Amino acid sequence: MSVPCLAIVIPCYNEEECLDKTTLRLLEVLSNLEQSNEISGNSYIFYVNDGSKDRTWEIIEKFNKETSGKVKGLKFSKNFGNQKAILAGLFEAEKYGADCYITLDADLQQDENKITEFIQKYKEGAQIVAGIRNNRKTDGLFKKYTALSFYRIMNIMGVNIKINHSDYRLVSKKIIEVLRNFRETNIFLRGIFNELGFKKDYVYFDVKERFAGNSKFTIRKLFSLAINGITSFSVTPLRFVTFMGFMISFLCFMGGIETIIAKLTGEFMVPGWATIMVITGFIGGIQILCIGIIGEYIGQLFQEAKARPRYIIEDELN
Ligand code: UDP
Ligand code: MG
Repeated sequence: MSVPCLAIVIPCYNEEECLDKTTLRLLEVLSNLEQSNEISGNSYIFYVNDGSKDRTWEIIEKFNKETSGKVKGLKFSKNFGNQKAILAGLFEAEKYGADCYITLDADLQQDENKITEFIQKYKEGAQIVAGIRNNRKTDGLFKKYTALSFYRIMNIMGVNIKINHSDYRLVSKKIIEVLRNFRETNIFLRGIFNELGFKKDYVYFDVKERFAGNSKFTIRKLFSLAINGITSFSVTPLRFVTFMGFMISFLCFMGGIETIIAKLTGEFMVPGWATIMVITGFIGGIQILCIGIIGEYIGQLFQEAKARPRYIIEDELN
């Protein structure tokens, strides 16, 4: 196999505090890999500025000039979210060509020294190499448990994503071509890459602390990622609605029979206010939950039916 060209794709949202250090470090990693002939000399870094409100884009522009294009980038017209930034990075970087693409976070929480391992697995024939976190030490309790529950729920729903899967991943050029055919607006990359087939491999890495700035994933963004992940990959929640419908109808039917028997046998008594309150409240709650679940899917359909562009590019540096 000839020496592959590597593109490192990085989504950035308000990362001015990280970008200088991250870029210098990654240029060093690239240069080491190039010298040891593991990747070709035209490998590059590709930043996607996801509508940052700080100096992120200026820093990318500065590096683009200084490195005469080894650092490339594109700028979204507004914040479209990390998944779309990664997707755009892969699609748009492909124009400049590369044999394999690694996506990485701008805060270098994901161990950049493992890039060699990703390349190694690629050379052994893997088309997708997924990064799996060894642990969640750097996450707060809330994030740790919500994330773990998310992976468990996904697994119960039949989407077999490995627990602690991350968006630190290598994909080959071939995979990007395949990915272009997935036209959905709300894309959940960890799920999509899992569905594609092809030879896969895994690299296990330790997560470091964020060296500067704060997490750009607000609880709202995490929640929306999780709901999107579930509703775009599984209809199990809808089955659950149907199942609940059956169960409650069955219980009510039994209750009805009991009431009729009580009436016929003369045991019919008016008291029962508490029972009625509990049942009405319970059924009311379940109904709203079920309408909510169905609503989530209608929301997905609504967005997919509009088929608006997934992202809008304002500017590009090559
Ligand atoms: N990010 C992005 N758009 C967003 C939120 C985050 O492009 O709307 C980027 C962010 O700049 C970083 C990566 O996604 O490169 C992961 O975000 P972060 O490190 O804040 O998430 P965490 O590590 O806390 O899960
Ligand atoms: Mg991070």
